[in-house]
Amino acid sequence: MSRIAYVNGRYLPQHQAAVHVEDRGYQFADGVYEVVAARHGTLVDAEAHLDRLEYSLAELHIAMGRSRRALEFVIGETMRRNRVREGIVYIQMTRGVARRDHAFPVTSRTALVVMARSQKPPSRQVVENGLKVITTPDNRWGRCDIKSVSLLANVLVKQQAREAGAQEGWMVRPDGTVSEGSSTNAWIVDGEGKLVTRDVGKAILAGITRRAVLALAEREKLEIVERPFTVAEAKEAREAFMTSTSAQVSPVVQIDDSVIANGKPGHLTRLLVEIYDNYMRTAGG
Ligand code: PMP
Repeated sequence: MSRIAYVNGRYLPQHQAAVHVEDRGYQFADGVYEVVAARHGTLVDAEAHLDRLEYSLAELHIAMGRSRRALEFVIGETMRRNRVREGIVYIQMTRGVARRDHAFPVTSRTALVVMARSQKPPSRQVVENGLKVITTPDNRWGRCDIKSVSLLANVLVKQQAREAGAQEGWMVRPDGTVSEGSSTNAWIVDGEGKLVTRDVGKAILAGITRRAVLALAEREKLEIVERPFTVAEAKEAREAFMTSTSAQVSPVVQIDDSVIANGKPGHLTRLLVEIYDNYMRTAGG
């Protein structure tokens, strides 16, 4: 089955789907995106993702250009045409097409691309053996709370991780604290057994998975602290893991050359892997 993408009003076979060479997303990375998981044909935390999309657009003064209901319809239709039940939906909105000039164009129409593809959740192997991360300087701009398509720094971090035989890079700020992963939020279980993840602000993306996991952890009566943690603290942590729409809850068992605890996914991490997986299933109907 050929994949179908939605591009500015049309559903097209992906090999024919294209944007204008002067789309500002292409020239300036002047746009935002969302990735939403589907379970049993239903989106997980759709409202939260669309709220964040609207937040990112508003921060950049990009008009939504259509109603939320119209956008939801396009998303549903793209899933249907690609027969996606377990997978992800990618939504991208840019400031549109205009003659190249840095300042905002006076007239341009917000461009919309929606894609959907089937994708399996993290494998049993990841859940049972855990992943390795490296640490590397955070070279990004000061507005990491905006889910911008400007991902060059993140791309370089992920590539650096791959070349080091790791699956993710945790970015480190000048004060020695971990901000987040290149496409995931970072977590540890500290020496007192508390669940620690950085508080939201401009230094990180307010992950939707992060938020859901915090709510589930609270329901389990786990002790939680939202605060920055250093690389040194992470290497000494009892447990470590990362969260995102695609990675869900993925255990981390090594940071640079330091093995975390006994090198196996920790107890709380395993619990959260399980309860988040259940949550996704029920969130997906
Ligand atoms: N941080 C960054 C930099 C990301 O790109 C992502 C994934 N979009 C996340 C965190 C996790 O966010 P979410 O749980 O909403 O997928």
